[in-house]
Amino acid sequence: MRTVVALAPLVATAALLACAETPPPPAPTPTAPPPSAASSAPSAESQLPSIETDSLDPKVDPCDDFYSYACGGWLAAHPIPPDRATLGRGSALYEQNLVALRTILEHDAAGQGGNDPYARKLGDYYTVCMDEKRAEDRASLDRELARVDAVKDAKALAREVAHVSTLGTASPDGAPLLGWGVTPDYKDATKEDFTLWQSGLGLPDRDYYFDDAAKPDPHKKEVREAYERHVAAMLELSGETPARAKKDAATVLAFETKLAAASVKNVDLRDPTNQYHWVDRAWLEAEAPGFAWKEYLAALGAPELQGLNVAQPDFVKVAAKLVGKTPMADVRAYLRWWVLHTTARALGAKFVDEDFHYQQTLGGAKELAPRWKRCVREIDHDMGEALDVPFVRDVLGDVGKVRAKGMVMRVLDAMRDNIGQLAWMDDATKAAALQKVTAITPKIGYPDHWRNYDALDFGGGSYLDAVAGATVFEAHRQLAKLGKPVDRTEWELPPSTVDAYYRASQNDITFFTGILQPPFFGGHATRAIEYGAIATIMGHEITHGFDDEGRKFDAAGNNRDWWTSSIAAAFESRADCLRDQYGAYTVLDGVHVNGKLTAGENIADLGGMKLAWRAFQAARAEQIDPTPFAVPEEKQFFIGYAQAWCRNLRPEALHTMVSTDPHSPPQYRVDGVLSNTPDFARVFACKEGSQMAPAKRCEVW
Ligand SMILES: [Zn+2]
Repeated sequence: MRTVVALAPLVATAALLACAETPPPPAPTPTAPPPSAASSAPSAESQLPSIETDSLDPKVDPCDDFYSYACGGWLAAHPIPPDRATLGRGSALYEQNLVALRTILEHDAAGQGGNDPYARKLGDYYTVCMDEKRAEDRASLDRELARVDAVKDAKALAREVAHVSTLGTASPDGAPLLGWGVTPDYKDATKEDFTLWQSGLGLPDRDYYFDDAAKPDPHKKEVREAYERHVAAMLELSGETPARAKKDAATVLAFETKLAAASVKNVDLRDPTNQYHWVDRAWLEAEAPGFAWKEYLAALGAPELQGLNVAQPDFVKVAAKLVGKTPMADVRAYLRWWVLHTTARALGAKFVDEDFHYQQTLGGAKELAPRWKRCVREIDHDMGEALDVPFVRDVLGDVGKVRAKGMVMRVLDAMRDNIGQLAWMDDATKAAALQKVTAITPKIGYPDHWRNYDALDFGGGSYLDAVAGATVFEAHRQLAKLGKPVDRTEWELPPSTVDAYYRASQNDITFFTGILQPPFFGGHATRAIEYGAIATIMGHEITHGFDDEGRKFDAAGNNRDWWTSSIAAAFESRADCLRDQYGAYTVLDGVHVNGKLTAGENIADLGGMKLAWRAFQAARAEQIDPTPFAVPEEKQFFIGYAQAWCRNLRPEALHTMVSTDPHSPPQYRVDGVLSNTPDFARVFACKEGSQMAPAKRCEVW
């Protein structure tokens, strides 16, 4: 994702399509089986309603490892397609969505888009993306590289840093030197801030740049070496001699390593005090000299600023100083690399292949995804609120939206009941927590008002120009928010997304049409399966408002402490229980889950389970489901939960996930949560002391 459209730091997702799928273009095959097709016929005894008996592994004891019991059959039957890093239930669903979106784009490209106001624009975008021959035309790339070579002084340099940050494709992440965006103010969530934050790294995380003597990680070293080779290879493809490319790659690595050293660690970014520092506009020149700030901001198109949020001030100081004292030729090499890095997927085949070759070290995919998938993903990212309009109508519609909303309301009720009963919380903190729950805004399926893309201009006609046009459009859309009240109706991802999120500054929860589909919701799913699969995700997003990060924001979305200090300490010791539990899980030889990095997600997973279970029991108490189940409803609920997370990962993807993703690997999202859930142990009659019914359990909410 480009910085200007990156999710702000305070957006927490459920990640059915987790970050580990982003590095290699997520793009499985269209042949992924329709998720619940095999299991719907209620007639035969072995084909119970919606329980995917084929997905189970009956050889595994559910009290020993429930994930392997519930998913063993599915995992064996769903090897990862060669063009993917992982394949899970969520990504299999995303595959279906891609096929549906492709059909829309093909109609649009053929002039059959009907009344859709953006059919022509979408069709043009798809056509230029699909034109492989045209992608070989280097004119647009050469123009961009010439711009970098023309940089001779500090002012031109700052303008070029701004320009390259509004150039690239949807992936990879980041921008040269600095990231920027427009985000709600941490202390006053009604107003928008221009925000600068740390960026400028081509590797997935700052830790990849260093060898940790205490905890050597050969995988990170391999990735770093592959990255340096990749930088050289891309520069060589752009026209540099092999010797020069190799030298420039070393320069790029050295430059980025200095930025990495000044970057706040991902674990520490969970603390809001590492995300917000409001400063006067004059702070930049006074405290972070060396960089031509005025030219940078003007080139982005930012209005006159009185002040701004410098999220990580030490980083910004170091970055400005670094760019000021590094020889101009070296900074140009760094920018040339970033032009190639950020546009690689919009270039000719040699660049695309080299980019994929490097991405393999992060995800392990064996083949590049077919072009149409890459195009659909890019266009959905850039124009999702145009492309997805017919999709949401077909998949969810108003009826599905109302039904999903009813389920969310039930889970919100469960959260209120739960807070009322918490023994460790005092009345004052409970009252504030209840106020926050009541203020949560649920958003279901798709927005009420669709985004206007009239100003999107595809420019000169190459695919690179089209992508850059979409990025500039998004940059201007963001900048136009400054000086206006925060638009709380906005959606940050396209409706086809197989995911959900909570936003602390808006105190809202969003569930996309992409995830409100069978096997999670609707179709043949029983009530128990729906509660296990989707209500847990609804509860997960609600609980994010009360995790280690979200709890530091109040009902209005402001970063404010509403906790009695002794109760805050009680919360942290409960969170520590989970940090220790997950930190003890080993996923690869000697590599542990990062209990601190994943704390918020693990708190949300456990809370989501508890709330969904309560909501499920409330629904059962109101109405008995007359279906004759061979598997009792309560068992279905837990199987439905576990099977939502079935997912195969290549070792490379698992490494990347554990290093960078705040979500735990799927096995622990299931086993970690259920081993903390006494009702699970009761329903499956797990003996006290078994893996899934340990004597010591954690509970936060
Ligand atoms: Zn989450």
